[in-house]
Amino acid sequence: MMFRSTRSDTHVTLDAALLQGLAADGGLFVPASLPHFSNDVFDGAQTLQQIAVRYLTPFFAGSTLKDDLPAIVDETYDFDIPLVDLSPYVDAPLSVLELFHGPTAAFKDVGAKFLAACLSRLDAQSKHQRPLTILVATSGDTGGAVAAAFHGRPGIEVVVLFPEGRVSPRQQHQLTCWGDNVKSFAVAGEFDDCQTMVKQAFVDSELAARFRFSSANSINIGRLLPQSVYYAAASLQFERAHGKRLSWLIPTGNLGNGLAAVLARACGLPIGDITLVSNANRTIPDYFTSGEFAPRASVATLASAMDVGNPSNLERMRNLFGESNALAASGLDAVAVDDAQIRQQIVADAGHLPFFWCPHSATAMYAWAQMPSDRRDVRPWAIVATAHPAKFDTVVEPLIGKRVDVPATLAALLERPSEFRTIAPTLDALQEALS
Ligand SMILES: *Cc1c(COP(=O)(O)O)cnc(C)c1O
Repeated sequence: MMFRSTRSDTHVTLDAALLQGLAADGGLFVPASLPHFSNDVFDGAQTLQQIAVRYLTPFFAGSTLKDDLPAIVDETYDFDIPLVDLSPYVDAPLSVLELFHGPTAAFKDVGAKFLAACLSRLDAQSKHQRPLTILVATSGDTGGAVAAAFHGRPGIEVVVLFPEGRVSPRQQHQLTCWGDNVKSFAVAGEFDDCQTMVKQAFVDSELAARFRFSSANSINIGRLLPQSVYYAAASLQFERAHGKRLSWLIPTGNLGNGLAAVLARACGLPIGDITLVSNANRTIPDYFTSGEFAPRASVATLASAMDVGNPSNLERMRNLFGESNALAASGLDAVAVDDAQIRQQIVADAGHLPFFWCPHSATAMYAWAQMPSDRRDVRPWAIVATAHPAKFDTVVEPLIGKRVDVPATLAALLERPSEFRTIAPTLDALQEALS
């Protein structure tokens, strides 16, 4: 399979798309054609890992990593991603897909592990003398996941840019506790500034001469593909068990996770409707309402990992699947949930669900709770829980008046010392910091 840029006719292999991250013309790579799976392609595949290999095989056609796919899958999906039934608690067909059981307790671990598994293999094949530098802009969770996945890998360096003061204290710790081949910079700006700096660095000839860059952001196709897998697997397993298509509610920022679900559905997986749930950063819901894409500065919210005003993956979505009318007709919509509603939902569910929501996952639960019952209660829905509430203890604990237990992997990271520098939100400042 070839991958093409959203902005030109450039076609590259999967290996090149993974290594380059962003196309030379500034576009994002998308599959040049989509595979179409009928359910029988997955006959005999029961586990997430088995389904992952079948699902990813056509995307790996022609890649030098083709024979490594089973090993890459095993390295990526080495933690639980359970679909937990909530119907006993809410008296309606509702499940939650828990994506937060990885090393940094957010769904970003899936894409980061997959990229690390792929890029370390691709890099080992190359004869380059210079290390590969993974440049990553993070709204809070990606950077930690990427650092965890690449820490200690020979021949690879990681540079993390995060918005100063815009990530939770525990997220910040996860971003800055690595040392060795990982450097972290707090950018005096917002996430969109970090993302812009990464995009500029990629096309800057001076930096390109000094560094071999790759990106681990959701602009890298290597994030999208492995995220698509858990929608494929959960939806397929649900349909086998219940004979019905799952519809999804997905907390959305840069639109990497939501697009992954749309991709799985477009490839023929049994997925019903998809609702993208934004926080007060309404760029995507407004696009669905008006048909106009109007990127803007982001506003800070309790669901900080979704504070994105210029969601990169909308470019992919429109390129692959058309404009808002076509998207809506395909069973896709978008809603916004503000901070007061996030608080309300965390509090409302703290007593009667067997867990607490993180502020991001709470947006999706709120959107479900507000749906008219003739839509909500007649079909099975799944909420995507994108992070563990313990990562956002400073938001969640005051609301629920209780301590949130910290998962062991997260606790171990919080023990490590933290180190970072603050830089201005400009390419010049980044250039200087890297010299
Ligand atoms: C990154 C993130 C999101 C948003 O995901 P996108 O792929 O950027 O839309 C939501 N919740 C959490 C916890 C995240 O880390």
